[in-house]
Amino acid sequence: MRILVISDIHANLDALEACLEAAPPFDQVFNLGDIVGYGANPNEVVERSRALGHVFVRGNHDKACSGLTNLAGFNPIAGLAARWTQQMLTPENQDFLRALPRGPVWAMENVNCVHGSADDEDEYVLLSQDALPLLQRSTRQITFFGHSHIQCSFFIERLSRFQGAVPAYPDRTGEQQFEFRLKPDARYLINPGSIGQPRDGDPRAAFLLYDADESLITFYRVPYDIAAAQKKILAGGLPPRLAERLAEGR
Ligand code: ZN
Repeated sequence: MRILVISDIHANLDALEACLEAAPPFDQVFNLGDIVGYGANPNEVVERSRALGHVFVRGNHDKACSGLTNLAGFNPIAGLAARWTQQMLTPENQDFLRALPRGPVWAMENVNCVHGSADDEDEYVLLSQDALPLLQRSTRQITFFGHSHIQCSFFIERLSRFQGAVPAYPDRTGEQQFEFRLKPDARYLINPGSIGQPRDGDPRAAFLLYDADESLITFYRVPYDIAAAQKKILAGGLPPRLAERLAEGR
């Protein structure tokens, strides 16, 4: 079983299409939420995500853009984008977003999917001190998470040896992959990174492939037409900062 793990697409159709083109063959898709918000193609990205299937968890932007929560916790730019997205989404796509399940979702025997963390769907897991208690309490070998827009992994062996890691790419050009094999006696928190708005300084779209039979994780970074995505953001009347940051990967 080969699983495509995607997260934080944020209505960026250009990035999503580039990732799907670069992805190797897969059997299932785990989508960790924030399908919409920030980008200019919310309906197209919802429809593409629905067609891909299979396992979904909702993100904070999915909730806000479908009217499930108010915009109180959002910064002004994110709030403007959420309001814009609400107006653009078809009623059917709003219904789909509203019905997305809250994480954690038990996706397969040894795997949970969450947006933020298993404790709190809106929690940011950024540092070792965020990850360690979650790993100590986890009952699954793998928890796939999103929300931070940073491609990374944390793991713990026999409840003691703890490590965090970001993939080591030689540079930030072209399409690159970074793979590692899972140890059977360790527990992992793994973030595929963001497809539509990376924030780790690498503007390339990010996702991962989990080969369950081989216990192999492969991180991917894929260049896409950033200028095209930026143009649509500006033409649609979204805040210009949302276009700028795509090129910065911040
Ligand atoms: Zn997000």
